[in-house]
Amino acid sequence: MPSDVLIVGGGPAGAIAALVLARVGVGVTILDRAVFPRDKLCGDSVNPGAMALLARHGLAAQVEARALAVSGMLVTGPYGAAVRAIYPGGVVGRSILRRELDTMLLEAATRAGARVEQGARVVSPLVEGANGTRRVTGVFLRTRGGAVARPARVVIGADGRHSSLAFALGLARRPRRPRRWAIGAYFDGVAGLSDVGEMHVRRGHYIGVAPTPGGLVNACLVVPEARARAIGSAQAEALEQTLQRDEQLGPRFHHARRATPVTMLGPLAVDVGSAGVEGLLLAGDAAGFIDPMTGDGLRLAMRGGELAAAAALEALEGRADAHIRLAQRRREELGGKLRVNRALRSLVDLPVGVSLAAAAARIWPDILGPVINYAGDVKSA
Ligand SMILES: Cc1cc2nc3c(=O)[nH]c(=O)nc-3n(C[C@H](O)[C@H](O)[C@H](O)COP(=O)(O)OP(=O)(O)OC[C@H]3O[C@@H](n4cnc5c(N)ncnc54)[C@H](O)[C@@H]3O)c2cc1C
Repeated sequence: MPSDVLIVGGGPAGAIAALVLARVGVGVTILDRAVFPRDKLCGDSVNPGAMALLARHGLAAQVEARALAVSGMLVTGPYGAAVRAIYPGGVVGRSILRRELDTMLLEAATRAGARVEQGARVVSPLVEGANGTRRVTGVFLRTRGGAVARPARVVIGADGRHSSLAFALGLARRPRRPRRWAIGAYFDGVAGLSDVGEMHVRRGHYIGVAPTPGGLVNACLVVPEARARAIGSAQAEALEQTLQRDEQLGPRFHHARRATPVTMLGPLAVDVGSAGVEGLLLAGDAAGFIDPMTGDGLRLAMRGGELAAAAALEALEGRADAHIRLAQRRREELGGKLRVNRALRSLVDLPVGVSLAAAAARIWPDILGPVINYAGDVKSA
């Protein structure tokens, strides 16, 4: 008996899509290759807009209970430029370990009635027809005995940046620019922390720093391809040395000790030309990944999960072209945000852009306040 909706990936996008669908009585199964709780390299910051989305689903209180409040952002640049902006109107974001957040969201989906199969790796979509008439009718799941077909009336692809579904169908590609890698770990003994998230933009790289519950500090370095290649397997050294040699961060990391192994991943950016095909709807990073610099991936992923769930309901009612309407809604709602993020990441790609922005921020510190609020999705909070 095919599932009504199969969701590949039980991260924030997939869990929210499942929650929405299960709450209106749709039979949903999530397939995730991981076994939760699982770690995920991330800055661990849930921005105010993402918190508002969680509140709409009745999930904010339990996240808040395991999180630190984040009242704004500190953005620094070269030449000692530093701007600290507090979100307006008492709005706050949160900092929470992804293994905790993602497990909580998955459990909420389960409570709502979704089935979750963990350790279930999807290898490719099950496709009928070809080119103009192709339709996804399920997925192939890897088992010990080989790939097994799992049919479904609708598939939601929420399997992250390396989406096996989006890449198999030729919907996703890795752009030639930007090509950046992230290297992250947790530290203790970091000085000078406060209740704001931090983004330190330098020529050629940037570093996110966030206090997390339990006292460890998340530090994430993002570098271009040439530097990632030069770093090779010396990831821990590269992260620690970059932190210690940084003009502004160095003194604060002087007595810090790395408390976890280092994780490196990349290339980060993935461009996706469409939100799916007939029978398949994409959500979260699987629908396109933007640079983590603006710290709003979770809000985009979860909102994408909601939009995919709404499109899945239309498809279950027998309406064709749900993926086309999904693409249109994503463009209308998320398009502006994605364009701003692209512009910012292009700016930090250029050494002169970083210098100019730093100079402008020194002369006119208020310039960054609106950008920080926009990145934090404060309006939707
Ligand atoms: C370095 C870095 C820092 C970031 N920092 C922040 C931040 O501070 N704040 C923020 O809002 N965003 C941040 N982001 C972005 C954020 O992490 C993502 O946007 C978010 O995780 C997307 O959620 P998702 O559900 O789409 O994908 P994911 O969270 O990646 O979940 C995808 C799920 O799919 C499963 N899966 C993958 N392939 C398969 C398969 N073949 N079969 C079955 N299951 C599969 C995986 O196990 C995983 O559980 C950061 C990203 C990076 C890279």
